[in-house]
Amino acid sequence: MAKIPINIKEGKVKSDSIIVGIDLGTTNSLVAYINDKETIVVKDEDGSSALLPSIIHFGPDDRPIVGKLAKEKLITSPERTIYSVKRLMGKALEDIQSFQTNYGYTIIDDDPEGLVKIKVGDRYFNPVQLSAEILKALKERVESQLDAIVTKAVITVPAYFNDAQRQATRDAGKLAGLDVLRIVNEPTAASLAYGLDTDTTVNKTIAVYDLGGGTFDISILTIEGGIFEVLSTHGNTFLGGDDFDQAIVDFWIDKYKIKDSITLNGKSLKQKLRIEAEQAKITLSNKGFFDTKINGQALSIDKKEFETLIQPLIAQTLHSATRALKDAQLTIEDIDHIVMVGGSTRIPLVKQSVGTFFNKIPYDEINPDEVVAIGAAIQANILAGNETNILLLDVTPLSLGIETVGGLMDVIIPRNSKIPIRAGRKYTTSVDGQKNLKISVYQGERDLVEHNRKLGEFVLNNIPPMPAGLPKIEIHFILNADGILQVKAKELRSNIEQMIEIKSQYGISEEDMAKMLIESIQHAQDDMDTKALVEAQNEADYIVLASQKFIDQNKSWLTPDVLKEIKKLTQKVKISKMSGTKDQIRASIDALNAYTGPLAHQAMDQSIQQALSGKKIE
Ligand code: ADP
Ligand code: MG
Repeated sequence: MAKIPINIKEGKVKSDSIIVGIDLGTTNSLVAYINDKETIVVKDEDGSSALLPSIIHFGPDDRPIVGKLAKEKLITSPERTIYSVKRLMGKALEDIQSFQTNYGYTIIDDDPEGLVKIKVGDRYFNPVQLSAEILKALKERVESQLDAIVTKAVITVPAYFNDAQRQATRDAGKLAGLDVLRIVNEPTAASLAYGLDTDTTVNKTIAVYDLGGGTFDISILTIEGGIFEVLSTHGNTFLGGDDFDQAIVDFWIDKYKIKDSITLNGKSLKQKLRIEAEQAKITLSNKGFFDTKINGQALSIDKKEFETLIQPLIAQTLHSATRALKDAQLTIEDIDHIVMVGGSTRIPLVKQSVGTFFNKIPYDEINPDEVVAIGAAIQANILAGNETNILLLDVTPLSLGIETVGGLMDVIIPRNSKIPIRAGRKYTTSVDGQKNLKISVYQGERDLVEHNRKLGEFVLNNIPPMPAGLPKIEIHFILNADGILQVKAKELRSNIEQMIEIKSQYGISEEDMAKMLIESIQHAQDDMDTKALVEAQNEADYIVLASQKFIDQNKSWLTPDVLKEIKKLTQKVKISKMSGTKDQIRASIDALNAYTGPLAHQAMDQSIQQALSGKKIE
């Protein structure tokens, strides 16, 4: 049993040992955790369902209500009821222009590149704040069940989420009072729930088919030695169970000649029809027939009719599957397992169609609307250290590299690399007879090390004296699964070696990390320009040295005119290096090269002649 510390101030058990897993969904969200090897999917107060509708309603007092009660308000108060907020995460207004009209609430944006906001009454909320409300509701739910404070979580996101969307999700967690230890891809979580990672001796290829309420995606993953990699992902962010409901609504309107133009509460009637349609759909997953009455009108639909309606929509998902396979350069035969995710995969025709397409029986034993949260809980449990025989896998949040001539950052391990990882590169000296080489290790995305974060430095001593450029110095970065970085330097001609270990990899706050990333994007153009300039300056230094060497070695046969010209051109390089632009420096280098190039050939001939004439045959 793990020890459970008590927070004296709050009088509650502070359950640091429990890290929860959260599926923050477009339609439904849920939280799960593992306690003593048992997976618990946390149910709502009346114990009926684990699904918390991802809907936020702002009542007259502006207090947010989340979940089932908010869902009911969709009918009566659509302008104050926010749904599908996940679609807005990390998005600017221009990203969502095409579907803005789908919402019953107002989305605004006063700054065209800024992130969208939602207007409720006279208040504004951004998607991060709204998602935080959903997360808070889940946090409260699990805390009241555990009677403990929960502060740490793993949250899942779709595989196609970009950095901005992932960061927005992290921020929402933080705002809800959760330390988000990891953002995990939904298909990865689902595969974890099925334990597909446990046998590390075999490599597997998995297709995860996720059909939720409003979105569909299919991801092709590989697992090699416990390491997940998303090979491809495809889908339609506007295809899901909602469309099935809509198809039934349209079917009824057509079949019973219902006037959807019924005024007064026309909107409400449509919404009522939608609710009945969802009920019909869910019923038809188990039964052959559904009927009900609404406003005195009898409504019915049978399974065959329903299947005819959704057939074309299912065909679309399989089309995405074909594309995903193609992108991954795989065929159906390469897929070892299919994992079904999302409430809509409960529909028998969906299961059947996917099975037929892949010619394999899909995994569907775990509740498809809980499987992602369960996987997140498993990941959380691993992070909590309760699973000691599983290797922790992570990615480096920032690039790691060393300083090269002119203060440039040379990246050795790029950001987002999976760890553990090792990577290396060869360098050489820039000065003749150089005995020591200082290796400074930095973390960050900027092109100049001065803008990045220094992690440490060490000196490779006792390099045997050699002309500049001759030593071969290999620098190796080894980043282990715990985030500890070892840097090794070795001169390959003499075999001398040095190394340091840097532990502070993660001694950087999330805010600083986000700041560093944002800065790197903001300064990208400047940085690129500076880098090009520094590179030209470095080359200028090199060519000045080389031409000096050339003069020294060849002055015996070079004419005074030629010598004068070389010196003049070299001087120009020196001057442009001091004050010129990148292009001016490049031009002066080119001019010097153009002049000395043919001379270098002559020099070669000269030295061959000298060598021959100097050789005495005994
Ligand atoms: P999301 O990942 O988008 O948050 P979910 O995985 O929770 O969504 O799926 C929600 C969708 O699943 C809804 O459209 C819901 O109607 C549908 N659904 C849930 N149960 C069933 C069922 N038994 N048969 C058919 N559809 C179902
Ligand atoms: Mg989902």
